[in-house]
Amino acid sequence: MARRKIVAGNWKMNMTPSEAVKLAEELKPLVQSDSVDVVYCVPAIDIIPVVEAVKGTNVAVGAENMYFEEKGAFTGEISAAMLKDAGVQYVILGHSERRDYFKEDDALLNKKVKKAFEAGLTPILCCGESLEQREMGVTMDWIRFQIKSDLVGVSADQVASMVIAYEPIWAIGTGKTATTEQAQEVCKGIRDCIAEIYDDATAASVRIQYGGSVNAGNAAELFAQSDIDGGLVGGASLKPDFGKIVNYQ
Ligand code: PEP
Repeated sequence: MARRKIVAGNWKMNMTPSEAVKLAEELKPLVQSDSVDVVYCVPAIDIIPVVEAVKGTNVAVGAENMYFEEKGAFTGEISAAMLKDAGVQYVILGHSERRDYFKEDDALLNKKVKKAFEAGLTPILCCGESLEQREMGVTMDWIRFQIKSDLVGVSADQVASMVIAYEPIWAIGTGKTATTEQAQEVCKGIRDCIAEIYDDATAASVRIQYGGSVNAGNAAELFAQSDIDGGLVGGASLKPDFGKIVNYQ
């Protein structure tokens, strides 16, 4: 069965609640699609108003992060159950900005991935190499390490239902997109890694996005690749261009 494309916006630390509602309203007519899943991953404080704003549309709401503990003395954190109760369906985990600025490591991310599943959320698990790693020729070794560590103890059925985002760090927010060949090669490498850890059916089912300066001009070519099932979009998700990315065909 063909995998359904999924285009997710990562709003990062942008949009106050009132700006978020305005953006969701502006994008409403532009992101309609019968063939592509559309997700807005928004700042925690925007979740409730954006869930309300997109009610009755084809848009699902995602969070940009969560904590793995159930509840308690973890000041400033948000639990998976809180996200679920607020109407969230997806959660970005392991974005390179969180790995880098907030020192999230793969052991922590593994706990977060498992907790997200336990709460009924779909993880969008990010992985990707630095420019230095690419130049050293260790891209795929690094990404296989990330995937293998982040998925310890995660079942085949869970992996089949999740989303993995390949995001080369050097292409995020830089305007430098990976070439179509580079993006396809790594997304295929991720699928091969899933086949090795699990099986062919799981690998054929998991959706793998490319992220890194996706825009209205390059989305069609990237999403046409056999192992690229859509995109995780930062900068361009805050503009009307996001509608063009969703409707790339
Ligand atoms: C991202 O933040 O996940 C991302 C890919 O950003 P951009 O599209 O701006 O490169």
